Amino acid sequence: MEFFDTHSHYNDEAYIEDREEIINEIYNAGITKTVVVGYNEDKSEKAIELAEEHQFIYASVGIHPSDIGANKEEILSQIKKIRQMASNKKVVAIGEIGLDYHWEKENKELQKFAFIQQICLANELKLPIIIHSRDAIMDTIEIIRGEDSPKFSGILHCCVLNKELIETGLKAGLYISFAGPITFKNTKNKELINIIPDDRLLIETDCPYLSPEPNRGKRNDSRNIRFTAEKIAELKGMTVDEIAMITYKNAEKVYNI
Ligand SMILES: [Zn+2]
Repeated sequence: MEFFDTHSHYNDEAYIEDREEIINEIYNAGITKTVVVGYNEDKSEKAIELAEEHQFIYASVGIHPSDIGANKEEILSQIKKIRQMASNKKVVAIGEIGLDYHWEKENKELQKFAFIQQICLANELKLPIIIHSRDAIMDTIEIIRGEDSPKFSGILHCCVLNKELIETGLKAGLYISFAGPITFKNTKNKELINIIPDDRLLIETDCPYLSPEPNRGKRNDSRNIRFTAEKIAELKGMTVDEIAMITYKNAEKVYNI
């Protein structure tokens, strides 16, 4: 069985001591593709570096809402660098980008500005986007529906979802990606999974964060994607093999790999 982990952060400090070891181990465990996702300039550069060193790793570049500059000029200069990095052949998406009103509430307008600017960059470069949305459902919906909507698809990544956000995303041609929290007891996303058509479904770890049960709370890595796949298979009445295959194909499609 092979898995495509659509969202990992092997560029993170959490792997500083054993990065190469873990990367080899996940590949040997059947995670034969992953996109290492950038979230600021440094980590986007690191994502590219890892993608250049490992054939099965791809990169995305972008500025996460918690990492945007303090004003428009700063944001535009960050995006200028992202644009340069995006010309690398192994960059398959712009992300992660979006809105986060959980950690940052004071700069909503700047967050929207950075989000829209990066969607426009992705549209110009004909790349999909990876969307992070936390406590910002209505504004995310408004932007996805607006005139600067993503034109080359994208992914709603491990968002706290509601029906309206999923429907808006599907309508805009986006894919929906599930991570470890689907295995948690009290997750709301369980009922929502059945409104997602098979050809828009993705799985990810978002490692080192969001370890699924039974490893909740520990540092995550792509091998744990199995637990997420098992839970989704159970909820959808399918086999883990089927989930692995379907999500692998969908990931190759959205990332144009
Ligand atoms: Zn992430």
